[in-house]
Amino acid sequence: MDSWIIVTEAGPVAGMAAAARELGGTVTAAVVGPRLLAESTAACGCDSVQWFSTLDSVPAESLALQVADLVAAASPRLVLALDDPAGRVLLAVAATRLGAALVSSVPGLSVEGDDLVVTRPAVEGKVVETLVVPGALAGVFDGEDVDVVSPVPAAITEVAPSGMAPSMRIIETTVAPGEAAGLQQAERVVSIGRGVRKREDIALVEELADAAHAKMACTLPICDDMRWYDESHVVGTSTQQIAPDLYIAVGVSGQPQHMSGVRAAKVIVAINNDPEATIFKKCHFGILGDLYEIVPALTAAFKRA
Ligand SMILES: Cc1cc2nc3c(=O)[nH]c(=O)nc-3n(C[C@H](O)[C@H](O)[C@H](O)COP(=O)(O)OP(=O)(O)OC[C@H]3O[C@@H](n4cnc5c(N)ncnc54)[C@H](O)[C@@H]3O)c2cc1C
Repeated sequence: MDSWIIVTEAGPVAGMAAAARELGGTVTAAVVGPRLLAESTAACGCDSVQWFSTLDSVPAESLALQVADLVAAASPRLVLALDDPAGRVLLAVAATRLGAALVSSVPGLSVEGDDLVVTRPAVEGKVVETLVVPGALAGVFDGEDVDVVSPVPAAITEVAPSGMAPSMRIIETTVAPGEAAGLQQAERVVSIGRGVRKREDIALVEELADAAHAKMACTLPICDDMRWYDESHVVGTSTQQIAPDLYIAVGVSGQPQHMSGVRAAKVIVAINNDPEATIFKKCHFGILGDLYEIVPALTAAFKRA
């Protein structure tokens, strides 16, 4: 029983691939986005990667039919996508092409006889329901990420453009009202969390942001509890989602409410002194250590570059 996973943003891709692996067959990833996303997916435990390159002006959803056709031609028993807007759209179209049961939340799954079985919380977590799917299943992956031990990167095949004009394109991107911190447009962002001990220590991190030509952001407690920055600097579910090329998180634990705001960041670097910090499972590069030592060293490196 072969599976496909659809990836349009960074996220718990290794966890999703591991869930797909439960079926025992091959796991193929359809990646829509930059080459870096295809490369990080290739190291997440899948067997092969079909890469759909996109232009900045063309949203991932515009490739939904092309992705769906490729998935349907392979006739997999299972298709999973991450819980992001474009991923959900691509999954729904693939499910329609495949004639698959579309399930909005799949924390994990198992195989019982010929059936796929999904056990998931429902009614705001008050009950647990078990779904049995006798045919093909397309589901939004809602499970945890896993570590891939000694990953051997899968081969990446670039899918040739269909030759058809994109069904949509972005003609304008404007700054959202109240976006005083300029985070929506920023290519580089340095963010602080409660690991920064005192207000005056922010200067240390702002120096890093200056050297890296980055804007400053923060976690919610830095705004709500400490009052060190206003709301326009906060990233996460409560405020704004951003998509810089580089996001450096300094003393940030990596809670889902914060990380959902940087899912679309191309490269996430985390500086944290706790080896168990959640953010180390959600970043591309982790620096384990005291921010008061790491940040000045990084600032000096940016100044030298
Ligand atoms: C409904 C709801 C909505 C929310 N919305 C948002 C949101 O939009 N955005 C948001 O950010 N949060 C949001 N939160 C809060 C979120 O759940 C977390 O509590 C918050 O993101 C944690 O902030 P933090 O990482 O700064 O602090 P902490 O979780 O306290 O983490 C601090 C980190 O700093 C590290 N550290 C400490 N000292 C050092 C040092 N010297 N060097 C290096 N590392 C160090 C620690 O190891 C730790 O990992 C929301 C919460 C709720 C309930």
